[in-house]
Amino acid sequence: MNLTLATTALKKYFGYDQFRPLQADIIQNVFQGKDTLVLMPTGGGKSLCYQIPAITQEGVAVVISPLIALMKDQVEGLSANGIPAAFINSSLNQEQQRNVENALLAGYVKLLYVSPEKMVSQSFQPLLKRLKISLFAIDEAHCISAWGHDFRPEYTQLKFLKAQYPGIPIIALTATADKLTRKDILGQLGLQDPAVFIASFDRPNISLTVRPGQKRYEQIFDFLKQHPNQSGIIYCLSRKGCESLADKLNERGFKADFYHAELPAARRNKVQDDFINDRTPIICATIAFGMGIDKSNVRFVIHYNLPRNLEGYYQEIGRAGRDGLPSDAMLFFSYADLLSYREMFEQSEASSEQKELKIAKLERMFQFAEAPVCRRKTVLNYFGEPYDGQCGNCDVCKNPPKHFDGTVAAQKALSAITRTGQKVGMSLLVDILRGSNRREILENKYHQIKTYGAGREYGYDDWLYLLSQMLHIGLVEIAYDDHNFLRVTEEGNKVLFSGKQISLAMPLPKVKPGEKIFAPKVVEKSKTQLLREELLGRLQLLRRDLAIQHGIPPYTLFGDVTLQHLTDARPLSDAEMLEIEGVSERKLQLYGDAFIREIRQFVLEKTQAGERITGSTNFISYHMYLQGKSVDEIAQERGFSPQTIINHLATMYERGELINIDQWVSPEECDIIQGALPLFTEPYQVKPIFEHFSERYSFDQIRWALADFRKKSLKTVE
Ligand code: ADP
Ligand code: ZN
Repeated sequence: MNLTLATTALKKYFGYDQFRPLQADIIQNVFQGKDTLVLMPTGGGKSLCYQIPAITQEGVAVVISPLIALMKDQVEGLSANGIPAAFINSSLNQEQQRNVENALLAGYVKLLYVSPEKMVSQSFQPLLKRLKISLFAIDEAHCISAWGHDFRPEYTQLKFLKAQYPGIPIIALTATADKLTRKDILGQLGLQDPAVFIASFDRPNISLTVRPGQKRYEQIFDFLKQHPNQSGIIYCLSRKGCESLADKLNERGFKADFYHAELPAARRNKVQDDFINDRTPIICATIAFGMGIDKSNVRFVIHYNLPRNLEGYYQEIGRAGRDGLPSDAMLFFSYADLLSYREMFEQSEASSEQKELKIAKLERMFQFAEAPVCRRKTVLNYFGEPYDGQCGNCDVCKNPPKHFDGTVAAQKALSAITRTGQKVGMSLLVDILRGSNRREILENKYHQIKTYGAGREYGYDDWLYLLSQMLHIGLVEIAYDDHNFLRVTEEGNKVLFSGKQISLAMPLPKVKPGEKIFAPKVVEKSKTQLLREELLGRLQLLRRDLAIQHGIPPYTLFGDVTLQHLTDARPLSDAEMLEIEGVSERKLQLYGDAFIREIRQFVLEKTQAGERITGSTNFISYHMYLQGKSVDEIAQERGFSPQTIINHLATMYERGELINIDQWVSPEECDIIQGALPLFTEPYQVKPIFEHFSERYSFDQIRWALADFRKKSLKTVE
């Protein structure tokens, strides 16, 4: 088995020209019958690593996949590309299962998705024994680890595969990278001398932004206004939070729904379905949402509340931009979130060891949000992947903080803490510094201390930002065991009493109401951009209509990347369309005509309106020819020479359009001219052939004979 075959299948069945980094190596490895472990981030392209070997090898590949919804998605996606695939899980009734079994035994199925429960059940074994199996793929392989968050006990029984089918390669795949999980997978499955492939976990297309949690609603409205017609998820901590956010969004005219574990199953399915099929673009959800969703065009993930650790954060934002197109991840953070998690963890039943671990992870999460360091660098380093330099696609890189001598500001805060007897929390301290008349201040006579009102030069949020930095550099700490009061540390005392200098990041400029945070510059769009947007919009509508007709999600029909390529390349023929990334042969067959028709229509409308649409000149001439105009008429109308028009038509003919060429060249003449071609080298030129025949045939005749030759050779290549 070689890679050329794999590359051919990649183009034919998926419409892609190239493998991504590691994919080819992994596939090669599977071809050689070796066990393999693949660690790749969500959206990295894991599925192809077993799908290509499955398609190109004899027999059926058995894929163990833990989520029923995902199985259905995968099978639909494969079927849309003309790949025979099926699944067996508890959602099938007896008859459906029998049909799948028959198809399997008849050898029709190349990929079979099975739930882990089914896979390990006794009743399933006889069928398995009768199949010719090319490979076992174990998706979401981290489910095997009791340490992980998605532990599935059935996974631990999968070691029987290696014992009973020693000669069949196993490929295990996961997006969870930590060492412990990796060790568990290799050990528990009993993989033999496995090759381990670890891809970078960077998702450079996701732009990372962290915002202070004040006025979240306004910030979200603002964001959504800047990103119209985009689909995304907003994660909230509580059920109530999801519901009220969805309500508020709807009031403001955004189409949103909510999702959480307490909704009845039917309702949950509907919400998910509406999201997948682009009927509801925005979902406000608890973390329960997203696990079973493979939607490739999720354009943003917003965390309304702080996630409890970086693992969760990264997994959740990973649901954005699987198609590789620019996407946004925005996180809001506040001390209130931090404190309520802490309380929750401390009051839980867990052992003190577990509590400590949870709290430590929470603090890392918080530091990530707080520290003015490149976000990508912070998060990748956390996952053990060194990342040098600045990513250029996070809020810190785009807007690097300016540092200033923060000694005086810090001294004011430290002094106020000391003078209150270290009996104030973050918010009260800021109110003291800003000279507020809050009741507690007057009651405790804090308005009489020297630093009362000494920090009016900074706003409330600015102080929070400065204080959080003081926390990180260790000038103050929070007494979690004593009402979260602030305490001055030894380091803090050095600043307060011994004149130690410190540097702090300047507070971010305040967001004024109505100010646009996200695309501050409004740039006039060029004519080309407007045309592009119009065509993209039309193709999106067409995709939606066709998806409804075919009963599949729009992104399964064509991904957003493919739609963009279609918009940019504007294919006007089958051959051109097949060159587009993501257009497989099957999809060309099913949807090619509709898309080409729409693009042609667009080109004609715009041309008639006096626009110049590049790349369409051949087609315009051809269209006029179809309207019954002669070459001379077309030439005159378009201001070209007749020979140029012949060239246009011949090109269209080469690409497979129907033109009766007998009026220019007879079949016999065609034969004679083509018979002389071996005397010349490609690409063939008209002039030398013309001279070769001592002007017996006209330029036009030769041009047509060449077109006919090319058309035929195109056919034989297929
Ligand atoms: P994962 O399972 O790792 O989350 P997928 O296998 O679903 O990722 O792939 C993510 C997206 O990338 C899909 O839309 C897939 O079609 C696309 N993709 C995968 N491999 C390639 C490739 N070689 N060229 C272009 N697109 C690809
Ligand atoms: Zn960065």
